[in-house]
Amino acid sequence: MTAKERFLKYVTFHTTSDENSSSCPSTEGQRTLLSFLKEELLAMGIAAEQDENGYVTARIPANAEGLPVLCFLAHVDTSPAVSGENVRPREVVYEGGDIPLGNGVTLSEKDNPDLRELIGETLIVTDGNTLLGADDKAGVAEIVTAAERMVNDPSFRHGEIAIAFTPDEEIGRGTDLFDVEKFAADFGYTVDGGKLGEIEYENFNAAAATIEVKGYSIHPGGAKNRMKNAVDLFCEFHDLLPEADRPVHTENYEGFYMADELSADVEKATCKYIIRDHDGENFRRRKEFFLSCADFLNGKYGEGTFTATVKDSYYNMASVIRENFHLVENARKAMKDCGIEPITVPIRGGTDGARLSFLGLPCPNLSTGGYNFHSRTEFIPAGAPDRMTEVILKIVSLYAERQ
Ligand SMILES: [Zn+2]
Repeated sequence: MTAKERFLKYVTFHTTSDENSSSCPSTEGQRTLLSFLKEELLAMGIAAEQDENGYVTARIPANAEGLPVLCFLAHVDTSPAVSGENVRPREVVYEGGDIPLGNGVTLSEKDNPDLRELIGETLIVTDGNTLLGADDKAGVAEIVTAAERMVNDPSFRHGEIAIAFTPDEEIGRGTDLFDVEKFAADFGYTVDGGKLGEIEYENFNAAAATIEVKGYSIHPGGAKNRMKNAVDLFCEFHDLLPEADRPVHTENYEGFYMADELSADVEKATCKYIIRDHDGENFRRRKEFFLSCADFLNGKYGEGTFTATVKDSYYNMASVIRENFHLVENARKAMKDCGIEPITVPIRGGTDGARLSFLGLPCPNLSTGGYNFHSRTEFIPAGAPDRMTEVILKIVSLYAERQ
């Protein structure tokens, strides 16, 4: 079976993750797809198992000695930002211009300059009602197909291969219950990136922060010099954070503060923020500045008026990957050998690989071939999944050559 055929099968599973659920997987549809994947691997003769939290792991024994255990990972859930139910993928030959998707949604040339490189190609698009799920079912399909090709070709030389399919990446829990020690791989890749050629090994340092403001409510008619309106005070806090340091004004390596969720009345205001920066020192300064703004305003309005908290979420994996830079070099070489121009871009977010890297499993991120993740305009060139399968096989070969 081709990776494209597999991808089209996997997107029919409804696997949207749910932040409000405390179970793992957060939604049953994910467990259904994970069980399907386990059975699919078993049917190929690959030792696969599923644990009680839904995680599927599999191993292909080495047929050559002295090689590292290389792993490939992908997640089965799709982003809760857009519906992932009843995904109806459609293939269109792209001849330039806009692609009307349905439901009033258009994949426009203007908003998607990458489309120009894809004239003449067949694209898999949505019907405008849902996302597509190339994030990350394309990654899953590419890994499964590479595994099938490996076991079906006894002449293909490789070390031990470890595979993992995980739930709930999109709600930040993808690695929470993943047993890295039991998985026992040396290093590997997540296959969860965008357009063909992307190799990502630098991501944000990330923290979640909150500010709580305690106000004092009194009838507005008699409020002079007495009312402390938490709404106003919150605005004062927010204004202390540099306006230029917001996602809407930043790109590449630039960090930011972002107000994410606000609830406020006269007595109490609470706002959740996220803080991001690629640079470790800048990240530390940003967190300190956030806390110092609360201190400053407490000096003005009284101790206890503002309470700020900051909690780290994940770190930039670049420091770990630089010590294992063969991962990036081999990925680049494999892509070039497959006729794909490697692109290294800093991730303005995090990946499961970033967390795994700090748990002792260095994992840069490879492209899946998809575009516009978490959106109704998500699409993937129809040939991309099978081209990425070739890249994965090439990487495996390169690690077998090294010895
Ligand atoms: Zn993803």
